[in-house]
Amino acid sequence: MASSLFKTLIRSSNSPSTARYLSSTSAVISNHTAKWMQDISKKSPMELINEVPPIKVEGRIVACEGDTDPALGHPIEFICLDLKEPAVCKYCGLRYVQDHHH
Ligand SMILES: [Zn+2]
Repeated sequence: MASSLFKTLIRSSNSPSTARYLSSTSAVISNHTAKWMQDISKKSPMELINEVPPIKVEGRIVACEGDTDPALGHPIEFICLDLKEPAVCKYCGLRYVQDHHH
């Protein structure tokens, strides 16, 4: 009696409909990250960005539209280059420095 009730609970918790629901939900949440993480032989986006030297820009303001992949949803970001440190785009991580002419 007790063991048959236990088996019934196990079966219901492993029902295909429940499993499908959970997997599809997590797939939506992790899809963006998984796109980058599934191939561990490639470098992570942040490692790639850190290898890119700061981009020299004439003028105090640069409009960053992302690197080469428009699928990342990068809006045009205007970055002020008044600081001595390279300015980092908060969307794509590219770094910009003001190219001073003396
Ligand atoms: Zn950017």
